[in-house]
Amino acid sequence: MALDNPSTYYTITKKYDLHYSDLEEDIDVDVVIIGGGFTGVNTALELAERGIKDVAILEANYLGFGGSGRNGGHVMAGIGHDLETIQKDVGPEGLQAIFEVSDLGARLIKERIAKYNIPADYQDGYGYLGFNKRQGKLLRQWTKEFQSLSPDVEISYLEGRDVQSIVGSDFYTCALKHMGNGHVHSLNLLLGSAQAFTDIHGGRIYENSPALEVRYGSKIFVRTAKGSVRANKVLWACGAFLDRMEPEIHKSTVNVYAFNSVSEPLPDSVIERISPIRGAFSDITPIIDYYRVTRENRLLYGTCGQVFEYVPGDLKKWIHKKLLRLFPYLKDIKIDLAWGGPMECTFNRFPQVGSLVEHPNVFYVQGYSGFGVTPSHVIATVIADAMTIGSNVWDVMRSIPHRTIPGKDNFRSLVVSLGKVALHLNAYRIGRR
Ligand SMILES: Cc1cc2nc3c(=O)[nH]c(=O)nc-3n(C[C@H](O)[C@H](O)[C@H](O)COP(=O)(O)OP(=O)(O)OC[C@H]3O[C@@H](n4cnc5c(N)ncnc54)[C@H](O)[C@@H]3O)c2cc1C
Repeated sequence: MALDNPSTYYTITKKYDLHYSDLEEDIDVDVVIIGGGFTGVNTALELAERGIKDVAILEANYLGFGGSGRNGGHVMAGIGHDLETIQKDVGPEGLQAIFEVSDLGARLIKERIAKYNIPADYQDGYGYLGFNKRQGKLLRQWTKEFQSLSPDVEISYLEGRDVQSIVGSDFYTCALKHMGNGHVHSLNLLLGSAQAFTDIHGGRIYENSPALEVRYGSKIFVRTAKGSVRANKVLWACGAFLDRMEPEIHKSTVNVYAFNSVSEPLPDSVIERISPIRGAFSDITPIIDYYRVTRENRLLYGTCGQVFEYVPGDLKKWIHKKLLRLFPYLKDIKIDLAWGGPMECTFNRFPQVGSLVEHPNVFYVQGYSGFGVTPSHVIATVIADAMTIGSNVWDVMRSIPHRTIPGKDNFRSLVVSLGKVALHLNAYRIGRR
């Protein structure tokens, strides 16, 4: 249950009781979106805001069933983990185009929350953390880059004891403090956006309606168990749950498991010791620890596992042990819930965005590689532009080649473990370790 259909911090604290019926008829729409996570819902809302309101979302389970309802809620800068991995594919001008949109996500999320009055507990304050000189050098470089993108935001590099002004852990020796990033209740954000799409813009959402068969052509045909959709365009937005439904895009991602937990509510004094700015944090290694405090004074702590890919038996105990490395003074706290889920990762850990060569009306987004909360808000604008007026960023992003990941279906754990080793080795070179 902790992985298949989990109770999470978000499901137990959500403020919406929002349910949509399943599809029980044959409908005709302009755009059909398969998948009701951030990618699907954000794109639907972006389209509606551009005047394309004849849009239907099909969700196999319920909104937020996937990564969008299981994540850490971190609102961070950028799209993709390292822009240098796509430099050779897009050239300097392409890189500049992506760099310019890459930092828009936090602003888009804050604007969305304000515009539709979504109770998503947004809190400013983010720390990117390091524990050696190499990482300090990289964080100093990032500080300059972030400052150039957002000159009005408090962004600073911290070292030594100053790190404790944002996070109460002796583990770290350096940090980038970014007060334009932060954290959010992702399920409330998702549900509030979905409600805006249906109730304000007249869009349609069907839950418990998996796409069972999809046929391409000038008209797309999607069959569900009790109905069907005919549409001019389709967007695949299934994240790690695509499960071979679209073979061309299936082959270039591999699922990697990440885990999350939430503590019991803690006294104010403990929360302020964990983080005086009540922020969100992650280290900059390839297999990160990431955590934040919540509005109810809980510690929401997550990790991308170990180098060797496996799912721990007692998730709560395993996670608690991991967090004690960073916060030994939390040994007596109770972990209320632990859960996890798959994240679809790409070879370059950059999201894949495009349309099928033979079927230009078939769009897809996948491969956030564990970093999708903020990027999905930016990429939804890119897809909505692509479906309407086109854009330079769309052309650049879709030009990035996708590499097939061999052995991903039959030897997933081995492939992922080898991938993590390679990432670790590369991390020494680029300063992430
Ligand atoms: C444990 C965990 C922690 C994470 N932490 C963070 C974090 O702190 N910060 C961050 O930026 N990112 C994080 N991520 C990643 C981030 O949550 C995802 O990248 C993002 O939510 C992906 O959104 P999505 O809409 O593309 O996919 P999803 O949210 O997974 O949605 C895909 C949806 O498609 C549906 N679907 C699948 N097949 C079909 C079908 N045939 N028909 C209809 N519907 C279908 C699924 O049911 C699912 O609801 C985390 C992920 C996990 C799993």
